[in-house]
Order: sequence, then structure tokens, then C-alpha cells
Amino acid sequence: MAGSTATGKTRTLGGAGEDKAGTICRAIRRAIVERALRPGDRLPEDALGERFGVSRTIARHALGQLGSEGLVDLRRNRIAVVATPSMEEARDTFDIRIELERLVVKALAGRLEPDQIAQLRAHVEAEQAARGGSEATSIRLATEFHVLLAEMTGKSILTRYVNEVSYRCGLMLSAFSRPHSSECAVSEHSEIIDALIAGDSENAMRLMSTHLEDVAERALLVAPEARSRDLMDILAPYAEEAAGSPARPRRTKR
Ligand SMILES: [Zn+2]
Repeated sequence: MAGSTATGKTRTLGGAGEDKAGTICRAIRRAIVERALRPGDRLPEDALGERFGVSRTIARHALGQLGSEGLVDLRRNRIAVVATPSMEEARDTFDIRIELERLVVKALAGRLEPDQIAQLRAHVEAEQAARGGSEATSIRLATEFHVLLAEMTGKSILTRYVNEVSYRCGLMLSAFSRPHSSECAVSEHSEIIDALIAGDSENAMRLMSTHLEDVAERALLVAPEARSRDLMDILAPYAEEAAGSPARPRRTKR
């Protein structure tokens, strides 16, 4: 991710602090989309700072950013928690995502360069290969497919909004869906690419709507579950990767 999701900075930290806060944001977004972090999970700024090797101020700044993206609820007592969306917010988020991504495919139909087509095909192949493996990887790759498409439009505001809303949908999936029930169908990603290559914008928009509608429908059926886990343990591999050690499989090349 290009780290371009900043939507409303609470205060200025300066270059290095900003970078570190951005690193924490990316790690937590990813932990949410992979469902390692769940709605209601606590994110105390001191423990977070320690885990990522940054000051409380930087951790607080990162949490403020994630709060502005709707991924984290900031409470008065300074304990931030992963946001717990209502069913209505979840439905609204999917509706907005569908309209935004219709704009994406409308902008791309008939305009993909050969190297972009190759990149999209390679991404779908990686998604295919991840099937039957780790659920977290499948979900992340599925989300990244949509973000990649948005980036290919070259439209920065559209990219930023799709990025943000895709991660919010990741949170919705985490809140409401059953395991393995709500990933994108990889074959549908291929069909969308085919429609874009054919230059058929109406068909591409229809396919994208149906595709995301199906994800939403599968996602928004089931009530959230209660659980208790050690959150700083869960964040450990994300912090290690952020620090540059290859504790987890690397993201796919784009
Ligand atoms: Zn998809």
C-alpha cells in the first residue's frame, strides 16, 4: 500500500515520527483485514508503542489516524479499541464501496496497459495459489486486488477512498462474517479483468456490483462472536515485519 490513506491528521509529528506512525497504521490495517484483530480488541498506546518500538506519542498519533478512518474507536480514557461497526454502518460501507468501485472499473475499461494487465493476472494467480492455504493471506490478497485496481486509475482521491473503504469492509467482514464465508470469488476477479480488457464498461460495472454485493451478502448474515486472546502476542509478527524482519510471508509484488 502506498500509505496514502491519510485522511485527517490530528497533529504534525515531523518526518520520522510520521513515517513510524504510518508503519503502525499499515500494520494494524493489515491485522484487521486479516482478522487477527477483531472489533472491540483493545489497543493501549503504551503497549502498542512498546511493541512497535516507538514513543507513546507516535502510537497515539497512529491511533488518531486509524480513528479518522473509522477502524479504531478512541475513548475518553485513552484506551483505543478496534471499532465495532453496527450492521447499518456495515451495509452503508458496502453500498459506498460498490459505487466507488463502479467508478474504478468505468475509468479502467479499455484503458489498461499491457503491463497492468500482466500485473492483474499475476495478482489473481497469487490469489488462486493462496486458496486452501492461510485464510488471512486469501483475505488480504482479495482486498489488495481491489486496491490495486483503484491505484491503476491514477486518480488519487478515488484511490484513497477505495483504500479506506476496503479496509473498513475488512473490519465489517471481521465483525459479521463466518470464517471462509466472505472472501472474494477469484473467478469473478478474472471476469472483471476480462471485461476491462474488452473495454465493456457497462459489463465491468455490472460485474463489480454483483461481485461486491455477493461479498456483502455473505458477510452480513452472521452475528459477531465473543473471544479472548492476548492482543500484543497477535500483533508481534506485524511489529516484527514492520521492523524489517521477515517473520511472515511477504506481500505480493506489485
Ligand atoms: Zn473481490
